[in-house]
Amino acid sequence: MKGELLYEGKAKRMYSIPGRDDVIWVEYKDSLTAFNAQKKSSFGGKGAINAQITSLLYRKLTSFGIPTHFVEDISQHEMICSKVTIIPLEVVTRNRLAGSTAKKLGKEEGSPLKAPLVEFYYKDDALGDPFLSDDQALMMGAVATKAELDELRASALRINKVLQEIFLTAGLELIDFKLEFGRDGRGTLLLADEISPDTCRLWDRKTGEKMDKDRFRRDLGKVEESYQEVLQRLKGAAV
Ligand code: UDP
Repeated sequence: MKGELLYEGKAKRMYSIPGRDDVIWVEYKDSLTAFNAQKKSSFGGKGAINAQITSLLYRKLTSFGIPTHFVEDISQHEMICSKVTIIPLEVVTRNRLAGSTAKKLGKEEGSPLKAPLVEFYYKDDALGDPFLSDDQALMMGAVATKAELDELRASALRINKVLQEIFLTAGLELIDFKLEFGRDGRGTLLLADEISPDTCRLWDRKTGEKMDKDRFRRDLGKVEESYQEVLQRLKGAAV
């Protein structure tokens, strides 16, 4: 049973589940935001698409031995997840340079990388989620030790390998993506939040067409169709 609203974010609402303090009820919203919510939109069914993509990917990651906060689906746009304390870092992994990073470094969008890059950004909307060096992450108290940063980096790289394989079988190249991690009541590190076209750059493997939130950020059109296409392709993928 859905209890009280605990937290409402840009894309999701979290509710308590009466009598359970180890899990939460997560509801995906239809809203679409970019540039720290300065650009806003929505489309009907968007929450259901992202929830289904996240659920499908989390079930696949679990089968590869990667611990996530996903517990079970409730409906197409709702799921039960383990309650975690979120580590206030956005862990971004890049297989090719794109977006503002390509621009910042003077590289063409899509420039390949010899090895994936993992970066940490501080989860703070008021500050605009700034990039953090390891020392800055420690100074801000985002984690307690350097070993935790190394654990997050290793976990992101492992997840990257699995996700790249899953997306490739769906005819999509994983350009970059953002992960969030949390610790449950026992202190176990779990992958949390969502993995969807809102949080990944996904390009069609053959045509290079963008199939992710850049369609909304850059007014490329066919936002809804692309999100739907990602879900349908993943449903039909072999991995
Ligand atoms: N990303 C995200 N949430 C954020 C910031 C980034 O999901 O708050 C995702 C984004 O969709 C992309 C990846 O993380 O897939 C890397 O984003 P980048 O730092 O390149 O963002 P840009 O500044 O180019 O938009």
